[in-house]
Parts: sequence; C-alpha cells; structure tokens
Amino acid sequence: MDTAADRAPAADPDSVDPVLRARRPTFTSAQAPEIAERTFGLRAHAARDLGSERDQAFLLADDADRPVAVMKISNTSEDPSTLDMEALAVVHAARVDPDLPLAMPWPIPGAGTDSPAAADRRASFHGPDGVHHVRMYDVLAGRQRVKPVELSDAALIGWGETTARLDRALRGFFHPSAQRTMVWDVQHALQARAFLGSVRDEAQRSLAERALDRFEAVVVPLWPSLRAQVVHGDLTVDNALTDAAGRITGIVDFGDMSHSTILTELASVLDSLVVDRGPDELFRVSRLILDGYQRITPLEVDELRLVGEALAARAAVTIAISSWRAELGLEDRAFAERYNTSVARNIETLLAVGWDEAARRFGAERTAPVERGAPAKRAAPVEPGGVAGVARDAGVEGVVRDTEVGLIERRDAVLGPALEPLTYEVPIHVASARGIWLTDVQGRTYLDAYNNVPCVGHGHPRVTEAITRQGRRLNTNLRYLHGAAIELAERLVATCPPGLDTVLYVNSGSEANDLAWRLATTFTGQRGGLCTDFAYHGVTEATAALSPESWTGRIRPDHVETWAPADPYRGVPGGPAAFVSAIEQLAERGIAPAAAILDGVLTSDGYLDPEPDEIQELVRLTHEAGGLWIADEVQGGHGRTGHWMWSFERYGIVPDVVTLGKPMANGHPVGAVITRREIVDRFADGTVFFSTFGGNQVSVAASRAVLDVLDDERVLPRVVEAGDALRGALVEVAGRFPIIGEVRGVGLAVGLDVVRDPGTRIADPVATRAIKEGLRDRGVLAGTTGAAGNVLKIRPPLAFTAGDVPVLVQALEATLAAAAAR
Ligand code: PMP
Repeated sequence: MDTAADRAPAADPDSVDPVLRARRPTFTSAQAPEIAERTFGLRAHAARDLGSERDQAFLLADDADRPVAVMKISNTSEDPSTLDMEALAVVHAARVDPDLPLAMPWPIPGAGTDSPAAADRRASFHGPDGVHHVRMYDVLAGRQRVKPVELSDAALIGWGETTARLDRALRGFFHPSAQRTMVWDVQHALQARAFLGSVRDEAQRSLAERALDRFEAVVVPLWPSLRAQVVHGDLTVDNALTDAAGRITGIVDFGDMSHSTILTELASVLDSLVVDRGPDELFRVSRLILDGYQRITPLEVDELRLVGEALAARAAVTIAISSWRAELGLEDRAFAERYNTSVARNIETLLAVGWDEAARRFGAERTAPVERGAPAKRAAPVEPGGVAGVARDAGVEGVVRDTEVGLIERRDAVLGPALEPLTYEVPIHVASARGIWLTDVQGRTYLDAYNNVPCVGHGHPRVTEAITRQGRRLNTNLRYLHGAAIELAERLVATCPPGLDTVLYVNSGSEANDLAWRLATTFTGQRGGLCTDFAYHGVTEATAALSPESWTGRIRPDHVETWAPADPYRGVPGGPAAFVSAIEQLAERGIAPAAAILDGVLTSDGYLDPEPDEIQELVRLTHEAGGLWIADEVQGGHGRTGHWMWSFERYGIVPDVVTLGKPMANGHPVGAVITRREIVDRFADGTVFFSTFGGNQVSVAASRAVLDVLDDERVLPRVVEAGDALRGALVEVAGRFPIIGEVRGVGLAVGLDVVRDPGTRIADPVATRAIKEGLRDRGVLAGTTGAAGNVLKIRPPLAFTAGDVPVLVQALEATLAAAAAR
C-alpha cells in the first residue's frame, strides 16, 4: 500500500524549524557557575543539569548546597525574539492572574525589577558554537516530572483548571513571534508526515498515519473556526512542578508557545497526563482534566468533539518527531522515544473505540450534528396540490426505520404503557431545534407549529445561556437569601391586576394547579371543583380530578362538576346556565365549590372562544357560591394571546389565583402561583410551604430571560400580527375546503374544526388525524385536540411570525388537496 510514510522521504533537516534540529548546548555542570556569574553576576557554588529537550537548564546552588536559581542556556538556533515573547507572555499572564505559579525570568543586572523591556530578562554570551542566551529564574518549590499515573483525580482536575487559568491569562496576549511553526503544535501536525519515514516500528508508523489522516479529514477543515490565541502549548509533566498532592506549583517552560487554539493546549495536556493509563482510564482521566478546564472556561461543542482527533495527532507528532530526532542523533534514542509506546497505544484505543464513540466518551454530545450559522435547510415548501417529499399521499409510504423501531421498543419496555403514545404514525426522532424549526436525526427540518413550551423559540440563546451560566455559578433553594427569585416574583406581580401580590414557586403546571387547589380548599373550607367539559389541568391527584380529558374510564370524581363553554358553531349556548347547573349538581351532593378553574384559551376543549361577559358572570357565580376563580395560564399565558400577557385578561376578570407553567422558562421545568395575600395567609396558618426546586436560581434565571425576551423582541404585538395573518390565511383555505368547518382561536392558539360535512357539522376526528399526519409528512408539526378529537391544534412557539404563515398554509393546502382527491 502506498502510505504517506512510504511516499515521504526522511525529512531534510534544513527544511524544519531550526530549533527542532538544534542540539542542546553541551556546557558542563562545572562551567555553569561561571556562566551564571558572567551573565547575571550570580555566585553559585555548584550546578546540576536538569535535562531538557533543546536548552540546558541548571539548578544552581550556593556553598551550603542550597538551591539559589535555575539557569537556562538556550541553544544557538534560538531566536531571541522568541525568548522575549516568552518573557512578555509570563509578565502578561502574571498580571492577569497573579496567583498562577509562573516561573518569571530575572531582570539582568542593572535593569529595574519591573522593567517592561523583554530584552532586560535575558543575558547572552559567546560560546564555541555561537551566541547563547541565558535566563535566570527563582527556584520554585515542587517536584519535577511527576509520573502522570501517580496523579490523583483531584490533581488531574486541578491540572485542567490551571491550564484553563493559564489560557485565560494569555488570551489578551500577542507577539509577532507567536506566529511560528512549532511542529509539536497540532495545528501543524500534518508536517509530521515528513518524519514518518524515521519511525522504525511499523505498527507505530501506521497508527500515526491513521491519526494524521483522520486529523486532515476532520480537524483541518474546522480549524479556522476553533478558538485561537497564544497558548502555552506544552503544559506537560516535563514543564510543571507539583506538590505532594500533585497540584501544579510551578509552570517552568514557555518554550513551545505559539498562536494556536485551545484545542492545541488541551491536546498537549491530555497527551502528557494519560500516559501509561489503560484504555478506559484514557477517557476517564481526560474527562476529569476537561472538567477541570471547564470549571474555568466552558468548551465549545467542536472543541470537545475534536479532542480525540487532536490527542491522536499529538501522539502521531510525538512518534514522528522523536523518531526523527533519534535517527539524526540529536537526542538519545531511549530518551527521545520514551513516550512512543504509550501514545501509540492511545491512538490504538481511539481507533478501536471509533471516533464518534470516542468523542462521546470525552464528553461531547452523541450524534449532535454540528450546527453552524443558519439552521439546517427545511424541506422545500410544497406547492398547493403538489407532491410532497415523503408524503404518503404521493404514494411513498412513510416507514419507521429500524433505528426507531428499536428505540420505540426500548421506550415501551422501560417507560411502560401509561405514558402518552408517540405522536405521528412515523414518530419523529428529534435531534435539535432552533426557533420554530425542529430537526430530526436524519437532518429533516420541520416547522414546529405545535410546541408552545419554547415560547420564545427553541434554544433561545438568552434562555439557554442564562441556564448555563447560572448553573455554573449557583443553584440552590429559597431557604437562602438571593435576589433573583424575589425580583422575578416582583416582576410577575407587576404584570397582574392589583391584589394579586404574592408568588409561590413550584416546578410544573400540574404543581401550580395542585397548589392552587390546596389554597382554594384551605381558604374556602369547601371541596367542590368546577371545570370545563374537556379540560386538562395536570397529573396530580387533585388536578387529574379537574381534568375530564384524562379521567379514568371517563368517570367523574364525586367532588367535580363540569360545564360546557359556549360553542356557537355547534349551537351550544354554554354560558351561565350550564355553570349554574354544575353548581347545583354539586350542591345536591352537599358539596360547595372551592374553585372553578379555566384554561384561558380552552386548549383541550378545542380552542372554544367564550365571550368576556360570559366568563365574568361565571366568576361572579363562583364567588357567590363561596369559591375561588383559578386562571390556568399554563397554555394561554406569557403572551400566547398576543393582546395580553395573561389570557384571563381577555375576559376582563380578576382571578383569585393565577397558575403558570410550560412557557414560563421556555422548556426548563418551572411553575408558579400568583395569588392574593389573604389566601396565602390562611394557608400559612396551617402549614409551611417549601418546594425544593421551586424558585431555584437556574429556573429563575431562565424565567427572567423569557420575560426579558418577550419585552426585547416585542413578542406580544408580533403574536397579534402573526395570529391575524395565520387565521386570515386559514379562513381563506377553509373557504376552499369545506371539511374545515371553522377557524377559531386567539393569538397563536389556533384551532381548525374539522367536519365530515359542512351541513351537519359532524366532527371528523379521523380526517383531523389524517391532516395532522399529512402535515407531518410535508414538514409541518401540528396536533389534534377537542372532546371529539376533531380540532387541528396549531400552537407554534411565539417565535412564529407572519412571514412563516405561507409554509404552514401551503402544507395544509397540499394535505387537504391530496385528501380531497381521494
Ligand atoms: N394546565 C394546562 C392548561 C395544561 O395544558 C397543562 C399541560 N398540558 C397543565 C396544566 C399541566 O402542566 P404540566 O404538564 O407542566 O404539569
């Protein structure tokens, strides 16, 4: 086989960085004190060679054999401006992070201790081969060249942390000499190919080649997008001193610095610290180091994803360069090649595990397609009546792939039969989402016209960053004093009518309603509940009782009565009469209402649209019967209606209790109850309320971010505009397709009432489901709702705009046209 190494002749020494082909200087320990005196005026009695790749480093001692300084004599090829860069970098980093244990070069005799001139930190003399630069350092405490396998987990994490601190301290530093080609720097890893001919061990050579091939294919194209800066580039056990616990006490060599990437830094550190660990430890140890790094600086997805490739490339470079230097006799072979067996084994491990799996084991996300810039392209909008990409109507049967079949089986097996079934006949295996677009694992992108929870759009950066940042800083509970939850509560109260002045935090809509119910029963001393005919208010015992949609066997709990909201389309008068009769039914059983609860946009009832005076009368009747009015804003709140922040406002009422959930934190689980103080006072007489997660700093940060975005993006007026445009377009479609009996709703809570024929107005749940499936096939996600299951539920994230209407409407028209043609 024609391998890269076969093609590459042994590298010509003249073509590589002079520093790499230079020999170490060869001064003896006996000569060192004299050099120290000549250059720095330092009197030393003895010197010990500390060993180094390119320089000579001597530990100088006084006549009592106490160490007094470390002297570095550079080789004659070393460019003084590179040495100056090192000095300036150390000065810079020490200024940014004074606690970093950096070896600082001494000023030369006569220069001020704080001299900013880099040249003041080196002396020089003429040796037999030319000019040598000499730098003098304090002796830092600590052990040299700790064995990586001896580092404890805490030390590994600490190493990662120190690396990140050093990178942060160098972030603002630049020097022209940083633009150099250091072959150890993985950005130039491919140059190592030229040295592969020197690798005598065939297996090692082939592993190095495969590592470099992979690097070229995967890392090189992404390199220009990685975070770049001047990095130390070699924070290895050779260049750091450690204390007994393995913590870094001194960073002693900046000789490999260059302008490269954070990934370069990580590769060098991991490369050094995973030496002689087994295959499993390779990943665990790396994860600990990366954790340490991320305690200071979070890594980007690509940085994490490419760790394996960078590590393998660094290993390949190690094998290639050391072999070449040994071959040329620049270094003792055993010393030069001391790491090669170990690093080759690491490449082997990575190859055996597979690159994707390796990325996952280093902590990167599984299968995450790298998103850059614009969201993935969605399926092209379908022309009215046109043929859709994977439309079943078009004769292409939607099939569930084996991958999904397997997942579905595992879902059923482990999550059991009570969980709501997957939506769509061919379930959507989701991968990522942004704004109103949701992408599946095959890269197909759907217009999400269903999910109300990510109200400001999937993955909104304000919210995701708030969650991440706050999670990093602090996440605890309301037993401690902290301003954020208080401020959020104040902001929520400010959005409500006077009197609604007290906030209780919980973690979901169900919990909010459950607590509202407890408040109501406690306050009123009554135990009856009133809700709409097909309401849904939650999963807890109390809220399931108020949720006819999920009543087991449709059996109504004894303490609950329902009422039918007005439905003019079907001639249901609704209104107070039905409500009065519900109260009477309760009374017949000796029960008075503790509360009536209403989802202000009547989602489960099919987006029915009661009149304000109707609801006002119901509130009056509830109060008259001694009950409280609970406004469930889990669906209708946070701007869903467009005209109002809270859907109860559309009825001109003041509820006694308001409950929040779903959109409150754009997908992060939170809930809240807003009510009057006297109601909470009564509750507090008998109990203390504390929900561990309720009001935690992360949930609060996410909730605040949502309120901020609603303001900043002027979401409410946009919802009005988008909702009007959407309903207008849908009404027009309904005019051409008689199975759409009515278009209902407010803001971006829109229902299409699907009927068998417009004359009888008989509900057609089968057609409704088919439309939902047809839309899915055409790249638009919607749902179904209503007691008869005949209302197409269109409830997109509030990031949906008037400009997005045509995508939805065209898919709908195509679906309806295909159905009509059958
Ligand atoms: N109330 C309403 C009106 C809802 O739609 C829902 C959820 N669909 C809930 C309460 C319960 O919220 P959660 O599922 O977050 O507990």
